[in-house]
Amino acid sequence: MKLLVELYIVLHMLMGAPLNTLVDARHPLPRWFDPGPQPDAVSALEALVTEASEAGIRAAIYSGYRSYSKQGAVEDRERIVRPSTANYYIASPGCSEHQLGTAFDLVWPGLKVESSDPRNERLYIWLEENAHHYGFVLSYPYKEIEEWPYNNRWMPQVTEIIHEPWHIRYVGMSLAEDMIAAGYLDPQNSVLPQDFYQPWTSINP
Ligand SMILES: [Zn+2]
Repeated sequence: MKLLVELYIVLHMLMGAPLNTLVDARHPLPRWFDPGPQPDAVSALEALVTEASEAGIRAAIYSGYRSYSKQGAVEDRERIVRPSTANYYIASPGCSEHQLGTAFDLVWPGLKVESSDPRNERLYIWLEENAHHYGFVLSYPYKEIEEWPYNNRWMPQVTEIIHEPWHIRYVGMSLAEDMIAAGYLDPQNSVLPQDFYQPWTSINP
């Protein structure tokens, strides 16, 4: 039996999670799921970064794959450094899309992601306009809808995660196009990427 469980885990590591796996505070990934950066997402990201640079936009990876235990360490550190706001943008272990191996935080080289430096602004606007051409979406788009969970402005009153223009997730071309067509980037439109995702039900051996 133990061998079967181990085989199950290895297979899931090799295959990764489905691209439409829902990950949030209520749908955590298990501790054992440690797939590393996913090759399709990494090559799509390389293509995106190359294209951006041809448009004069520079993008560096600020944060990529994070394992369950790494996420725990990040959360602990943020709660010490920024106790009043950590809840807004740091997920607990298992609850971060970074554990999927398909999510990346991009930044203009040398800046912090939350910096409102005009170079970051250029990068983030470029991502909004172009990420879907490479199969990426912005997981936490800007919304002007006031009620939970849409109130995700910079200083939210009630929210799970603030607007994160730097956080992109690879979902494949077809799903990314579907989300664009549904208007998920429109601040007045309540559609979110999470509406297109499914809980990953087969992960508990
Ligand atoms: Zn992120």
